[in-house]
Amino acid sequence: MKLALERGFYFPSCEIYADAHAGFWEYGPTGNNLKNKFIELWRRELLRRDDMIEIDGSQIMSKSVFVASGHLDNFTDPIIKCKKCGATFRADRFITEKTGKEIPELLSGNEIDKIINEYKLRCTRCSGSFHESERFNMMFKVEIGPSKEEAYLRPETCQTIFVGFPRIFKTMRGRLPLAVAQLGKSFRNEIAPRQSLFRLREFYQAEIEVFCNPNRLNELPKFDQVKDTPLLLSIKNSSHSVNAEDAIRKGYLPNKLVAYYISLLSLFYSKTGINMERTRFRQLSDEEKAFYASTAFDFEVETSIGWIELVACNYRSDYDLKRHGEISKQNLHVIDPSDNTKVLPHLFELSMGIDRSIYSILDHSYYEDTEAERVVLKLVPQLAPVLVGVFPLVTKDGLREKAQNIYSELKLDYSAFYDESGSIGRRYRRLEEIGAPFALTVDNQTMKDDTVTIRYRDTMLQERVKVSEISVFLDANK
Ligand code: ATP
Repeated sequence: MKLALERGFYFPSCEIYADAHAGFWEYGPTGNNLKNKFIELWRRELLRRDDMIEIDGSQIMSKSVFVASGHLDNFTDPIIKCKKCGATFRADRFITEKTGKEIPELLSGNEIDKIINEYKLRCTRCSGSFHESERFNMMFKVEIGPSKEEAYLRPETCQTIFVGFPRIFKTMRGRLPLAVAQLGKSFRNEIAPRQSLFRLREFYQAEIEVFCNPNRLNELPKFDQVKDTPLLLSIKNSSHSVNAEDAIRKGYLPNKLVAYYISLLSLFYSKTGINMERTRFRQLSDEEKAFYASTAFDFEVETSIGWIELVACNYRSDYDLKRHGEISKQNLHVIDPSDNTKVLPHLFELSMGIDRSIYSILDHSYYEDTEAERVVLKLVPQLAPVLVGVFPLVTKDGLREKAQNIYSELKLDYSAFYDESGSIGRRYRRLEEIGAPFALTVDNQTMKDDTVTIRYRDTMLQERVKVSEISVFLDANK
């Protein structure tokens, strides 16, 4: 947290004001670079690799969308309010914290009140007793125009993909499976935002919705490209380390389509620097998963705040298109050109949280090198906010000008950073703390033979490289 705040990764929104609300954070310059590079990798390893298409939809959506999706009725968390001081708590978490009892999210109000009475639970702030529990809808309501029509900030980005499906399918000349991706903000009025980027009220999602023909889920020749992908699956509390092909054969994953996209996701995360040995695809129990989801796995990562969910992988069946078809009174069936049948496509989704991914990458990259008394962010070069720092050893004898010239050349093609203030040792430390893998120093020898030193962040070893070959070096290592 300290590093994130001091090195410009992220900080609380509106922090100069006393009425700043919890659950809103800003990405500073370093964090924003890291986020953008993460998104670029997501586009490269998932979207481009699989020929997916990407859209960018509205964040405010009309009420009917959420009548159809069920969010208006069901996107609620149980809360309890203190009669004396008015403090509000999320009921299921409160009970678990106080009693150690695991409470399903969908437990009825009566049952929650029964447990509160049985354990004689009281407000932690003032020891007051509680009103009867209520359900709190987590959507942010907005009013449109002077007539103040009711609308909502989307609580998940995928709804724009679902309602845009008929036009997207038509303009993309209709094929199935069709993978549509979207990156954007979602909004949830969380009762207890916490742990900076972990539980936010405004956050980034990168969702991929695969529209598919439910009768052809095993007809996927491209599955062969990923059949050997190692997967760590956690099913009913036991772990299975298998490849994608065996996962289907042993019945852990239901079909090639699901296994293919889970494999792509796993291959993507293995390139982010997250330690894959501290990850798992955990199958959700029947109580945890949405009623319409026949297969539901969460991709989870173990961090210093425990295991956290980064991506929900759900087979959503035809629930979404069926509901939007019913409420909008539009026919959302399409013809699958591969077998000429009329079908209401089913959906398999990879619903990824960008902020939690960034949090986990920072968590897994943070390294305290006690021997060298330094903090290093061991980010993979592809995600490093700065790829290379350029320093003159001293600012005299033409070294400053030489370094500035090199920096001007590099900054157009690489994320480069110029620094001449403070001792060279301190400049290296600053660079290591933002995860820059290389530091390039212009010294007296540079003026003689046109070479610079390149210093490696992790090993602190240095080598000399010709100025004319810096780009070749960076291209080979980025
Ligand atoms: P949780 O159980 O942690 O509340 P969820 O199951 O409600 O999460 P989904 O609706 O499946 O989450 O959303 C998909 C992804 O979006 C999550 O895996 C997570 O990475 C991200 N996400 C969801 N809610 C938040 C939030 N409040 N802050 C940050 N990221 C979030």
